[in-house]
Amino acid sequence: MNNTAYTKKFAYLSITAAVVTIALKMFAFLATGSVGLLSDAMESLVNLAAAIFTLFFLILAARPADEEHAYGHSKAEYFSSSIEGMLIVFAAGSIAIAALNRLAEPQPIEQIEFGAVLSIISAVVNFIVARTLLNAAAKYDSIALEADAHHLMTDVWTSAGVLVGVIVVVATGWTILDPIIALIMAANIVRTGALLIYRSAQGLMDRGLPDDQRKSIVDILEGYVATQQIQYHALRTRQAGMRRFVSMHILVPGHWTVQAGHNLLERIEDDVRERIPEVTVFTHLEPQNDPKSWQDTDLDRSEAPEVLPEVPGLKGAQDNPSEAPPQASSPPNAGEVLL
Ligand SMILES: [Zn+2]
Ligand SMILES: [Zn+2]
Repeated sequence: MNNTAYTKKFAYLSITAAVVTIALKMFAFLATGSVGLLSDAMESLVNLAAAIFTLFFLILAARPADEEHAYGHSKAEYFSSSIEGMLIVFAAGSIAIAALNRLAEPQPIEQIEFGAVLSIISAVVNFIVARTLLNAAAKYDSIALEADAHHLMTDVWTSAGVLVGVIVVVATGWTILDPIIALIMAANIVRTGALLIYRSAQGLMDRGLPDDQRKSIVDILEGYVATQQIQYHALRTRQAGMRRFVSMHILVPGHWTVQAGHNLLERIEDDVRERIPEVTVFTHLEPQNDPKSWQDTDLDRSEAPEVLPEVPGLKGAQDNPSEAPPQASSPPNAGEVLL
């Protein structure tokens, strides 16, 4: 997993953007003395903190597996994305409260002045950085970067909402439109934050891979089932940040050699790795004719089945492997193995 070297660069970009926007707003505050700009600068301070912990969790997620964390540290990204989700929901809440106050007591719209111009400039900076982070997040499958991008986007939407509110009120003269626009913005931002929290929770709960990826694994396995005397069960998948884990049991005729079985597993694992990025595959080889092979299809072991499931195209061969027609049940590369 070399992606993290790249994702870290984007976290540094986010930190830089936060520092630049803080500087812009502080400069505007010092020039105008407008308190609104000072609280704006505070918002960027939250961005800086968020970008720093995104970097921290990306570095943690990149640490190689060790004895205590044998499956790696990639799930650390979910801490980052869930905190970002909460910050986004919190930001939406404060926008909504301010809007409701203005709805109760309509206030005259402030003039767009020097300070607002700098706010727009910093919104443009945030927009460009957020788009860059979103692209990188999609490319490297990093939910922490994606969450940080959405956080920056929240600021962009907030600034856009203020600007649109001012323009609409000036155009129509209806002061009530300004808080209504802000409320719509807030609802949209809450949705973004809630979705991030939900997806982070799903990641922490070991949700399986997306449907299309699960389907391509099933397609690979069905391909082997159709052409060889094999079966599979206990197919399990999970996403752990950038990493993916897939495990399965492959059932083969009991008389196959260890070498033949391992050759097949290697081929199946290769096929899965070819189709699914950043995946670790675990396989478990089992003899079809042993009832114990069928007790571990669920997470908890069950009773042995009374009747073993049929192997397609291999009638009567399960209970007594010696009855199997030699052609039909010969394992892959059996010739090499026997040499
Ligand atoms: Zn092996
Ligand atoms: Zn099994």
